[in-house]
Amino acid sequence: MPSASPSWIVCKFGGTSVSSRDRWDTIGTVGRAHQADGRHPFLVCSALQGISDQLEALLEAAAQGGDPQEALATIRERHEALAHAMDLDSTAVLSEGFDRLDRLTNEVVAADPIPPRLRAAVLATGELLSTRLGAAYLSGQGLDVRWLDAREFLRAQDAPHVPPRRQYLSAACTSHPDPVLQDHLAQAPDAVYLTQGFIASNALNETVLLGRGGSDTSAAHFAAKLEAERLEVWTDVPGLFTANPREVPSARLLRRLDYDEAQELATMGARVLHPRCLDPVRRHQIPLHVRSTEAPEVDGTVVSADGPDVGPQVKAVSAKTGVVAVVM
Ligand code: ASP
Ligand code: MG
Repeated sequence: MPSASPSWIVCKFGGTSVSSRDRWDTIGTVGRAHQADGRHPFLVCSALQGISDQLEALLEAAAQGGDPQEALATIRERHEALAHAMDLDSTAVLSEGFDRLDRLTNEVVAADPIPPRLRAAVLATGELLSTRLGAAYLSGQGLDVRWLDAREFLRAQDAPHVPPRRQYLSAACTSHPDPVLQDHLAQAPDAVYLTQGFIASNALNETVLLGRGGSDTSAAHFAAKLEAERLEVWTDVPGLFTANPREVPSARLLRRLDYDEAQELATMGARVLHPRCLDPVRRHQIPLHVRSTEAPEVDGTVVSADGPDVGPQVKAVSAKTGVVAVVM
């Protein structure tokens, strides 16, 4: 069934896919290819690989009464190195984000305990910095890139009964078609929009997070809001496999799955898709394609209502470690 605005393609790029100049070239190529096909690309990006962990390390150091400066220095160096590799003026592109992180770090050091609100603000820095770099780089490559603050459009559900930790660090968002966002983007329909995964805001306009690994979920919400024609999740493996290819070399790529099958795999530990990202696309019947920035030519996995070409069968074997089953 055709949707109201069929031409948006939401593309999510994970940590490894945004960590080098080469990968940003691939992102630019993906954006241009969609434009050449008459579609409007909306890019949702993670923090550079390992940066969310470094931000957690910064918080941990401060919480233990230690010195967060080591983690802070690593975070700065990683972004400066990428800015350098991209031939960007790192001060112009990054100083606003670094200044914000310095201020937040001072607040974190002074706080005891660190409130979830402050943790969320610190962790959000990773996505804000990576998207600033990406937007500056792709603009320099001739794309009309518009940087959006995801927090203006992605709102957490009001959940007063939920403990503050969850409200701030693992918030749930709604994902209905969003005419306000659609109208806003329609002002520059030929632009490539670039925004952050993982971050949203609450009714007080504070920063909240969608949980670790939450960028897939952000992208799924944006796809629903835009009534996108497709959601593409670009990662470092070319799709969902019959088993973990790192542990089982003979694992096969699954070409087509339905939403329930993909949900099962995500829930049971196949780490390619976040378990929470399937619900918004399933509800709005938006096909989800898993692709690899390391092998962009591979078609990957398509998750849609059509599902597989063949009847019921064992689709995949996944493993969870450290789980205790209690049978009653
Ligand atoms: N950067 C966040 C994380 O590492 C969100 C994501 O990448 O999905 O958890
Ligand atoms: Mg992920």
